[in-house]
Amino acid sequence: MSEEKSLNFIEEIVAADLAAGKHKSILTRFPPEPNGYLHIGHAKSICLNFGLAKTFNGATNLRFDDTNPEKEETEYVESIKADVKWLGFDWVKECYASDYFDQLYAFAVQLIEKGLAYVDDSTPDEIAQQKGTPTVPGTGNDFRNRNIQENKELFEAMKAGKFEDGAKVLRAKIDLASPNMHMRDPIIYRIKKAHHHRTSDKWCIYPMYDFAHGQSDSIEQITHSVCTLEFIPHRALYDWCIEQLGIFPSHQYEFARLNMTYTVMSKRKLLQLVQEGHVQSWDDPRMPTISGMRRRGYTPHSIRDFCERIGIAKRENIIDFSLLEFCVREHLNKIALRRMVVANPVKLVITNYEKGEEILLSENNPEDENGGTREVPFSKELWIERDDFMEEPTKKYFRLGPGLQVRLKSAYIIKCDSFEKDEAGNIQTIYASYFPDSKSGSDTSGIHVKGTLHWVSAKNAIPVTLNEYDRLFNVEDLATADGDFKDYINSNSLKTLTAYAEPALANDALDARFQFLRKGYFYQDTQSKPGQLVFNRTVTLKDTWAKEQKK
Ligand code: ATP
Ligand code: MG
Repeated sequence: MSEEKSLNFIEEIVAADLAAGKHKSILTRFPPEPNGYLHIGHAKSICLNFGLAKTFNGATNLRFDDTNPEKEETEYVESIKADVKWLGFDWVKECYASDYFDQLYAFAVQLIEKGLAYVDDSTPDEIAQQKGTPTVPGTGNDFRNRNIQENKELFEAMKAGKFEDGAKVLRAKIDLASPNMHMRDPIIYRIKKAHHHRTSDKWCIYPMYDFAHGQSDSIEQITHSVCTLEFIPHRALYDWCIEQLGIFPSHQYEFARLNMTYTVMSKRKLLQLVQEGHVQSWDDPRMPTISGMRRRGYTPHSIRDFCERIGIAKRENIIDFSLLEFCVREHLNKIALRRMVVANPVKLVITNYEKGEEILLSENNPEDENGGTREVPFSKELWIERDDFMEEPTKKYFRLGPGLQVRLKSAYIIKCDSFEKDEAGNIQTIYASYFPDSKSGSDTSGIHVKGTLHWVSAKNAIPVTLNEYDRLFNVEDLATADGDFKDYINSNSLKTLTAYAEPALANDALDARFQFLRKGYFYQDTQSKPGQLVFNRTVTLKDTWAKEQKK
C-alpha cells in the first residue's frame, strides 16, 4: 500500500481489523443480481470490493445473488462476468446464492426447530396490516403460535409443492414491536413455482434476500460485506440470522451509492429503456451500462480513475456526469491515435501543386514520444471542413477565407486565392496555392500563420460513419424530476453522419482509440465492418467540467 494514499472509511475499518488480528486476511465479494447488465454504479462497488482486496492482499468472490428466478437469466450472468473482467478485476471464486439453496433450507429448518420461525398463511395485505407502523407495534396473528412440529411439516410441504404460490410464507419470529420494521417477523421464504436459470425446477420455494445474503456471506467466510446505504436497516436482521444460526460472523458495512446527473442507475429502468426501444440494446453507447461505455470507447482505466476520484462517502450525493467524461478525456489524450476526418466537406484545390501525390508523415500522438508516425497522402485535391472557410472573414478569423493563409496539418501553408459557388449559392470549390518551402518539419518559409486545419486527400479518402452522442436525458437530476423518467428522454441523443477519413483508419486496429483532430475522441463500433467503418464519439474534446471546477 502506498503511504501517500489516504484511506477511505471502509479501508480504515479493514486496516484496524487486520491490525487487531481480527482476521488473518480479508475476503470481500461483489454480489450482483443477474437481472440486468451492470451500470456505472456497479463499477463503483466493483472498484471498492476488488480494490479492498488488492490494497490489503485479500481476495474477492463474484457472487450471483440469484434468488428471484423470474427475473434472472444466464445472459446477464455472462455479461456481468465479462464486465468485471473488462474493468480489470479477477475473482477467486465464482459463487451463486442458488448453490446454497440446500444449506439455506437447512438453516430455515434450524430456526423452526429453535422456535424462531413459523409458517404464516396470511395474505401479503394481512401481513402488512399486522406489522403495524414505525410508531405502532404489530399485532401478529394465530399462525405465530404454531408449534414447532406443525411448522416443520408445513415448511416441508411448502418445499414439496403442496401449496400454491403465495398461499404460505415462512417468517422469522423476532419482535413485532421492534422500531426496525425489518425485525417485525420478516418473511424469509416464499412459494414461487418458477423455473430457475440454474436449479431448474428443483425448488418451488425461494429464500428472500435477507435470508440469503448474510448466510451466503457467512458460508463463503466473507470478512467485510460492503453494500449501499439502503441496506442499513437490514443489518440488524443480517446479524440476527448469523447469531441465531451460530455461523461465521461476516459483517456488513454501508457506503453511499453512486448517483449521476443526466442518467438513471437502476437495472429496472434501464431494462425499460431497452424493452421499449428508447435505446437499441443494453450496450447502446448512450446507456450508463459498463457494456455501453465499453462500446462507446470509454477505457477501463478511466472508469477506475473516476471511481477513485469520487471516493467512498457515507452520505448520498449526485456526481456530475462531466467528471466521468473528464476522466475519459484525460486517459484518451494520452493513448489515442490522432487521425484526420472531415465531416462536412468542401473541396479545396491547390492550383500550383503539380506533384501528383506525396506521402507525408504525421505523429500518431504528440503526447506519446513512442507513438510513432503514420503516412498521410497529400495531393492536389483535398477535402476540408465547410466550417473552416468564410466567404467574408471577420477580423479575428484564423481559418480560411479569400486572401487568408493557414497551415494544413502536417503539410504545407496555403493561401486562398478564390472560390466557386454552385447554383444554390453554396461554396463548391476553394482554390489556393501552397508554399513548397513551408512543409511541416522542414519549414524555411518564414511565414507565420495562426490557424491549422485538418484535411484529407480527396482521391485517398475513405467514407466512414460517425455516431455522435448527447446526454440520454435532458434533466440533471432525474430523482427529483416530476412524473415518469421516460418523459425526460432526449430525443436528439444520437446524430449519425458520414464523413471522409484519411486512409490509415482502414488499417488501424479494431480496438484502437482515436482522436479525430478537432472533432473528439472516437472508437470503432461493434457493427463496423471493413469498407463500412463506423465510429462512435466517445467524448468531445472540450473539457467544460475542469473549467467549471477552476472558477
Ligand atoms: P439496481 O437497482 O440497479 O438493480 P441493485 O442494488 O439492485 O441495483 P445489485 O445487482 O443487487 O443491484 O447490486 C450489486 C452490488 O452493486 C450491490 O452491492 C449494490 O449495493 C451495488 N450497487 C448497485 N447500484 C449501485 C450504485 N449506484 N452505486 C454503488 N453501488 C451500487
Ligand atoms: Mg438488487
